[in-house]
Amino acid sequence: MKGYTTVSISQTLMEAILESAKALYPKETILLLRGEKSKDIIKITDLIVPPLATYGQGFATIPTHMLPIDFSIVGTVHSHPSGNLKPSPTDLNHFWGSILMIVSFPFVNETNVAVYNREGEKLTLK
Ligand SMILES: [Zn+2]
Repeated sequence: MKGYTTVSISQTLMEAILESAKALYPKETILLLRGEKSKDIIKITDLIVPPLATYGQGFATIPTHMLPIDFSIVGTVHSHPSGNLKPSPTDLNHFWGSILMIVSFPFVNETNVAVYNREGEKLTLK
């Protein structure tokens, strides 16, 4: 596997993502991830609510031309109320940034979280 292999996130940010997913359940939450890239690690530093996100209608409905031109944004996170941790074909077709994070129902802890690269390969989360 080339490129980034590991994504690091603080407990505080992880909890904020899980809380957001719980709050919007059964709709999907969508957030942008801001972070710092170094060699093979992406460190997530902030969460950003995307402009004009239409919650609950799927990841594909973020109007990508409305997204900020901000190179500190490393990817996106969205929730899967179904409980499935795998990215859907739609998720991979609308991949934005370097990483795609998915949080799945019941949004309790890191076992309900997975992160993927553009090829759909699972990365290490710590
Ligand atoms: Zn999805």
